[in-house]
Amino acid sequence: MPAASSVAAELRVEGLSAGYLGTPVVRDLSLGVRRGEVVALLGANGAGKTTTLATIAGLLAPLRGTVHVGGDDVGGRPAYRLARSGVSLVPEGRALFFGLTTREHLRLARSRGGVPDGELLELLPELRKCLDRKAGLLSGGEQQMLAVSRALVSRPRLLLVDELSLGLAPVVVERLLPVLRRVADELDTAVLFVEQHVALALDVADRAYVLSHGRLVLEGAASDLRHRRDLLKASYLGEAGYAAEQAVARGGSPEPAGEEGSV
Ligand code: ATP
Repeated sequence: MPAASSVAAELRVEGLSAGYLGTPVVRDLSLGVRRGEVVALLGANGAGKTTTLATIAGLLAPLRGTVHVGGDDVGGRPAYRLARSGVSLVPEGRALFFGLTTREHLRLARSRGGVPDGELLELLPELRKCLDRKAGLLSGGEQQMLAVSRALVSRPRLLLVDELSLGLAPVVVERLLPVLRRVADELDTAVLFVEQHVALALDVADRAYVLSHGRLVLEGAASDLRHRRDLLKASYLGEAGYAAEQAVARGGSPEPAGEEGSV
């Protein structure tokens, strides 16, 4: 398992603490993502995944530590400037304009040297029939495809994706997540994504980091983590939660768990 600091990374986060009103909810986090690599950020609800992405994207200023993108120290740089430097975020909840069509979303996001519509539609062919439909009339899966394609229009060097699967049926998620793999492979983008469907996430990711209570508790190659479900589950639940789950599995009564999670 490569340490974050040894990765020749497009994104390099070192000793990051992040949170709200000066109070950290993520502590001492180090991670890296290379170009063409897909990395999953996993963890239970409230573990700090969204806070991490928001800080990398410039929506929150880091409380401590550094964030480098393409070798530049971007910690504390506001989101609009980071977007110009090639960082795109697909936020939780998509943040679409329901009164605008797909085509209008893409036109608004377009910058010089961006990905032409034709190339985007090769990645997400389902969007072709949605070009002249308003976002509010699209299905959840189509909306998520639009949110991803809007983030890709500017040909980002780093794509951050917060819970693509939110509110979607697993069959739709199975179709969507491999798009992240293709984005990394075909556009040579570094992709960091948050995902609750752990098995599906590990199917498309090269590596994964697991957060629990704001701290990094596990990292490794997706191919290794796929075979270490117990370890992954223990990381999600924390030791107390894991012991409680084991007790329930044995027919005993559980001790109260510190944090819930699903693997
Ligand atoms: P989920 O999967 O539920 O989105 P998460 O891992 O993304 O969880 P975060 O949303 O980063 O976790 O939240 C981490 C912690 O920060 C939680 O305890 C949450 O209550 C807290 N938090 C999130 N947003 C804010 C905010 N705007 N102000 C204060 N605390 C917040």
